[in-house]
Amino acid sequence: MKKISRRNFFQRSTSLAAGLAVTANSGRNLLPGQEARPTVRRYKPFGKTGFMVSDISSGAGARDANMIKYLYDSGINFIDTARQYGNHEEVIGQSWDKVPRDKMFIVSKWSPRVVTADVTKQKLMEELDISLKRLNTDYVDCMMIHSIGNPGYGGLERISNPAIYEAFDEAKRLGKMKWSGASAHSVTTVEEIGWGVDNDRFDVVLVGANFLTHGLEPVLKKAKAKGIATMAMKTMTIYKYDLGIKELKDKNTNARQAVIKWVLASDLFDTMVIGMRNYDMVNEYLSVSGTTSLNGEDEGLLSIIEKNISNKYCRPGCNGCVGTCPNKVPIWDVLRYKMYFENYGDEKYAMGLYKQLPEKTSAIMCTDCTDAPCEGACKYNLPVKQRLLEAHSQLTIS
Ligand code: SF4
Ligand code: SF4
Repeated sequence: MKKISRRNFFQRSTSLAAGLAVTANSGRNLLPGQEARPTVRRYKPFGKTGFMVSDISSGAGARDANMIKYLYDSGINFIDTARQYGNHEEVIGQSWDKVPRDKMFIVSKWSPRVVTADVTKQKLMEELDISLKRLNTDYVDCMMIHSIGNPGYGGLERISNPAIYEAFDEAKRLGKMKWSGASAHSVTTVEEIGWGVDNDRFDVVLVGANFLTHGLEPVLKKAKAKGIATMAMKTMTIYKYDLGIKELKDKNTNARQAVIKWVLASDLFDTMVIGMRNYDMVNEYLSVSGTTSLNGEDEGLLSIIEKNISNKYCRPGCNGCVGTCPNKVPIWDVLRYKMYFENYGDEKYAMGLYKQLPEKTSAIMCTDCTDAPCEGACKYNLPVKQRLLEAHSQLTIS
């Protein structure tokens, strides 16, 4: 697998930024007969919050306040951000002279490494204040514990730290946040989101989910029954794969839209968040806003996609290979970073995350691993070792 050099990487980033100006509202990727400027067609109750949320919402990706304005003008009224997402909080904070603050629901999250089993309430309040300053606002609509369900950050011992919930309560009392929640996209998602739902710890949950994930349905149904708002992320399993799948050509909806439609047609989610980096992405995704069911062609597309990527895709919420690696390589994290790099095109972010792994648990450890016990544990038949070695090559700056 080809490595990306530092020089090429920055050249590509510059080209992408320059491309934003010419891609604005070009009308590409629309459904046949659709208007040139798609907008949100459906708003849904967001759990018990009283907010009506756009069925498609924005994750990270906006690089300037004009993009936030474009989202708002397109009917998107919800942005998911986090301290970990580069300068995304600050970009949102620069948009308040273009977008009414009270019309945009903002979720942010503490950095996952800050929320530990022994973090104090005071530290969390200080970190919340930093996020508020970056966001240029007095309050967030929701603050979350980031990335629960990841053994690398600490498991149930971490999320049952009472200081977290004391911080939630105090911030709500002071008017610095309205709702509290957690995000999860890793191997013990079901267990940890389930703990929070059973113990009434969260008002909102954000989980990695798409047409290929399995096992999250019971906990999401339980959350919805309690009035907890539910959101899907990591829906874009296929961002670039469709380019090489010939059966997907010349369809009414493209592969990305088919994947989004699956989430929209599911009654498990109030909204979904997708990273939107440019205007074409907004147009393309909103072209399927309002979907409430799948037709035969949609289901056919999903079958083709599944056939092509099933043994390449590491599923959020799957814990099949936990404990199998003698070197403690966090397989699910490395494969997720690979997905950010390869499928989402977030090369810099992916490389930055991978760089934080200690070398002795990085995927370089797979080089001399002859029996690869992780592979026997994967019920989706991923060639785990090969994928990890590819990831190491992609995510390491030469
Ligand atoms: S190939 Fe070996 S070292 Fe690499 S993740 Fe699997 S078990 Fe661990
Ligand atoms: S590599 Fe396979 S077993 Fe491990 S988490 Fe991913 S999908 Fe599950």
